Amino acid sequence: MTKKIALVTGGSRGLGRDMALHLAHQGIDLILTYHSNRPAADEVVAAIEQTGQKAVALPLDTSDSSSFAAFYEQVTAYLSEQYDSPRFDFLINNAGTGLQQSFADTSEAQFDAMFNIHLKGVYFLTQKALPHLRDGGRIINISSGLARFSFPGASAYASMKGAVEVFTRYLAKELGTRSITANVVAPGAIATDFGGGSNRDNPTKRGIIANVTALGRVGEAEDIGGVVAFLCSDAARWINGQRIEVSGGMLV
Ligand code: NDP
Repeated sequence: MTKKIALVTGGSRGLGRDMALHLAHQGIDLILTYHSNRPAADEVVAAIEQTGQKAVALPLDTSDSSSFAAFYEQVTAYLSEQYDSPRFDFLINNAGTGLQQSFADTSEAQFDAMFNIHLKGVYFLTQKALPHLRDGGRIINISSGLARFSFPGASAYASMKGAVEVFTRYLAKELGTRSITANVVAPGAIATDFGGGSNRDNPTKRGIIANVTALGRVGEAEDIGGVVAFLCSDAARWINGQRIEVSGGMLV
């Protein structure tokens, strides 16, 4: 059987790291990307290798669509060297940064930063992946609970995540002819470095989140990766065009 390969953006830390490790435990090889934290990415590569799978970490700024052609040249050169085909199976658009700013005070520069990393980058990284993605492949876009419920200060960020959810349904519709599925995973609040690490380090915020979550706690990165790995399994082959919220029942 041909070895399956996943490309996870932002695989160096947080949710992407956990996704990469869950995928590796499922026997899938990894290409993960990092933005600036090479040592963290190297540590994830070493942890994946411990599972017996192959992995490589490549630099990528997902907010800079002009860099994507060169990025895929690197990806296909690596795949051609390591495998008998330059194609991969799963694209997981995970990389991203947050913004906590009231609507009234959000600047155009902040809006553009959110647009570039959470929508334009995802859109064109996926478009440019198409020639390299195997028929029967899967695309998983990471959204946020904030695209369903609202907290003050997330208007720019959450608007982009909402758009990515619409985009995902169009991907499912247009790529079905190639048997490629596209789904959204929407995490609730998770204790990572994201947003300055406030979901992990701010006790007041943690208390508020726990109070509005049916399971009564803040999420951990380990709550998310297994769901992405499941969506890349054969058991999930008929799930398409869906949004799966993984939040422990936040604001249900
Ligand atoms: P982290 O801050 O823990 O990790 C962010 C990851 O994205 C890192 O791997 C980082 O690379 C990478 N990254 C940051 N900026 C860029 C860039 N410009 N180009 C490419 N890669 C970049 O965040 P999380 O793991 O928590 O978040 C991952 C995804 O999950 C994001 O899309 C986020 O919006 C979403 N999400 C997070 C939630 C949460 O509460 N944590 C809730 C809902 C959704 P490096 O290590 O090199 O800096």
